[in-house]
Amino acid sequence: MRDLGSHQGQKANQYDSCTALAITDYASFVMEQQASMKVFSNNDICRMIKELCNMPAMVNLGNTCKTCRPMCDSVSEARFARISKRFFGERAREFRNVLHQHRGVITGSAAQVALLGEFDTPRDLNLIVPHGHFAGMQHWLIKCRYEALVESGLQEDLSKFVLTFDTYHCQDEAITLSEATGPDVLELVVNAPSTADMTFMTAGGVVSLYPELTLSWKGLIAPSGKWELMLGGRFGSINAGRFELHKNTSFYDKPCGTSCPTMWRLPRTDKSVLVVDWDKRYSVQPSMHQCKTEWKLFQTCDNKHCPSNLMARRDGPTFEQEYMPDSQFDVQDRLRDIGIHQPAFKAGYKGLLYATRCSKPMIVDVPLIEGANQYKNIEDLYVECWVSQRGLCDTSTRRAKLRRTYYSVPKLDTVPLDFAYTIFSEEGESDPPINALVSGMTPPRPNGASVQGNFLVMKQELKSKDLLDICDDDRSVVNLLLRSAIIHEAMPPTHQRKAI
Ligand SMILES: [Zn+2]
Repeated sequence: MRDLGSHQGQKANQYDSCTALAITDYASFVMEQQASMKVFSNNDICRMIKELCNMPAMVNLGNTCKTCRPMCDSVSEARFARISKRFFGERAREFRNVLHQHRGVITGSAAQVALLGEFDTPRDLNLIVPHGHFAGMQHWLIKCRYEALVESGLQEDLSKFVLTFDTYHCQDEAITLSEATGPDVLELVVNAPSTADMTFMTAGGVVSLYPELTLSWKGLIAPSGKWELMLGGRFGSINAGRFELHKNTSFYDKPCGTSCPTMWRLPRTDKSVLVVDWDKRYSVQPSMHQCKTEWKLFQTCDNKHCPSNLMARRDGPTFEQEYMPDSQFDVQDRLRDIGIHQPAFKAGYKGLLYATRCSKPMIVDVPLIEGANQYKNIEDLYVECWVSQRGLCDTSTRRAKLRRTYYSVPKLDTVPLDFAYTIFSEEGESDPPINALVSGMTPPRPNGASVQGNFLVMKQELKSKDLLDICDDDRSVVNLLLRSAIIHEAMPPTHQRKAI
């Protein structure tokens, strides 16, 4: 089996685009296999497809060949069934429902088997469940005769994302169970030790966050993996030998595109993420949609073909910079840069910006993030043009933590708002300057805390939550809202500097 796996690794280079594999390519592959392996029966061809074919290739094959479609559909499900049977025997079908009920995902080698084919039979199963589902899943594992190890260590880097962690054993099989600190299980996936480990599945689908690399049996070692390597540990795919892993992007032979490791990405809107669903009842989509975590791998890119490479950077505006626009002059510059940005932003809305050194709030353009063609929810706004949402050394963050939506003015509930307004504040750890504009609007507070950083306010319909352009008529009510929110300390959490 291992030999077949490594052969697939070589073949996969020809099929490294998850969208470009055509039936003709696959037919020639099968012919070549027939010639070299002397296989002639349909059963042999079926076996080869089952063992060697990656998931996007199977989906393509099923879409282009009527004869193959039933077989391709069944292979995806059979891969999940085989994995679950190995670990749960007669309770394999029950596992599908238990995993779904607890909104869990499978990561690690089992998910890689589902995506890439049966290069190996995994002996360990890594489960991640959202906060509140640990006890339920644990109870079921114990019912399946799994016993918890007395000592089961978690990699130190991941401990801030994991609330509870245990390892379970039953004969030769091992299961790790991790409980996320919140509802977002993908926060653990995006902090995996390598891009190959950023693959996860449910009972009905599989997702790869770096499909081009993973389908080519290549990968990048992520920051948590580099630490693991220094300690000589064995974690994720780093020492498994299945993937050709690299420490940086210098081996790329073309531009990174939207999957450049220096770009912040949000799985739900990211078109370079591969999502394959084979059973809609147990789809991976809910996990994707619940994901509020955006991530990036590196601060710098070493690919000489990539515009993000500092040595090769072309002239042009960038919004991922250390300081946000603070004066009227800077705001005008940023508005011009948004207008000439390449690729052009698809759409945008008007927001009200309270910049730290301005004498009055300014109406500004807020584009949608790259990859979003139309507004679906507040996550789609590229607010980072105006308010820094990440610490300088962050590689993952929750987008929601620096915003709050208001449906009434704090402490003035008798004055209902005609619209909902969302206030975005800035990441406090980056220590943004005191906001003179907002400080001048509010009386000194008893605790002496000052207000830091820019504020951006967006407007929505109360019921539909549709986004609306903010206009001059909104200024007075937004001033009242912001003032009241600050006085009554009802703001997003990290905007204040405590008095020394
Ligand atoms: Zn790059």
